Amino acid sequence: MTDPTATSPHIEIPTRAPSATAADDTVMPFEVASLDLRGRVVRLGPVVNEILARHAYPEPVAKLLGEALVLTVMLGSALKIDGRFILQTQTDGPVRMLVGDFTAPGKVRACARFDKDRVASAIEAGKADPGSLLGNGHLAMTIDQGPDMSRYQGLVALEGGSLEDAAHEYFRRSEQIPTQVRLAVAEELRAGKGGASHRWRAGGIMLQFLPKSPERARVADLDPGDAPEGTEPHTLPEDDAWVEGRALVSTVEDVELIDPSLSSERLVYRLFHEPGVRVFRAGDVRAACSCSRDSVEAMLKSFSQDDRDHMVEDGKISVTCEFCSANYVFAPGEVEAKAS
Ligand SMILES: [Zn+2]
Repeated sequence: MTDPTATSPHIEIPTRAPSATAADDTVMPFEVASLDLRGRVVRLGPVVNEILARHAYPEPVAKLLGEALVLTVMLGSALKIDGRFILQTQTDGPVRMLVGDFTAPGKVRACARFDKDRVASAIEAGKADPGSLLGNGHLAMTIDQGPDMSRYQGLVALEGGSLEDAAHEYFRRSEQIPTQVRLAVAEELRAGKGGASHRWRAGGIMLQFLPKSPERARVADLDPGDAPEGTEPHTLPEDDAWVEGRALVSTVEDVELIDPSLSSERLVYRLFHEPGVRVFRAGDVRAACSCSRDSVEAMLKSFSQDDRDHMVEDGKISVTCEFCSANYVFAPGEVEAKAS
């Protein structure tokens, strides 16, 4: 799940001037060679708006799913051809599940499952921050590179923290790559003919430290684990290049990640103009669901007759896609007759 440019560096060096305005629904890789840093900037406009507006979740749930969507695009866009990346939380908080599903190159969908009453009480109590909404559980990241490749799944605990925290923890423990992630989601208010309209925007930046000598990437504060009591924790000073890179990314404000008038190129230039930064061609992202009448029918056929009987309401079986809200209606006999 490292940056694709780490193993196959692009050779095109952009010669044009950085674009002045943000290109929405894109992922732009970049490299700060003098500090051994690589990263990606994600900017989502119509994609995040289409997904969040369609679901009409309560505002803090929508915002949280928007963050999950940015993280999904950020990590999924590292995959090569035909890969699929699925990010899924499972927790005991008011929002019990978030799913982000990315299919290379650039197709994404997302949905949330939550408890309406608990979310309402959390909002009322002023405890609708990401950590409180998620609660405790885990974040799973699955990479599927097609039938001939093995599936990979990484798990990280969620313990009242944000998705950013979970991403840092994942890269620290599983991949041992120093990684800093920033995610931002907001509703933009626009004056229009029929009054003000709201549009969701989202963005994020990921920075990774990938030095040629691996010992430089060693993480400073790994838990000593089950070492005997009294053992001094093994501490290493962090590499200066990483300390500098991380500090620069931590200064990025939410507004910089979602500002439609600030391009990804200008953002990374603003951050890294001193050490020098090189940007690569951005990839496009679009909101698209993979559901179909055939796939729903196949799913219904996989159920027992008894389960299907329980799904019949008003003489028909109705299935709504959780991702895109598409509705598929079947006559009970239609599914049975073909199931032999
Ligand atoms: Zn769908």
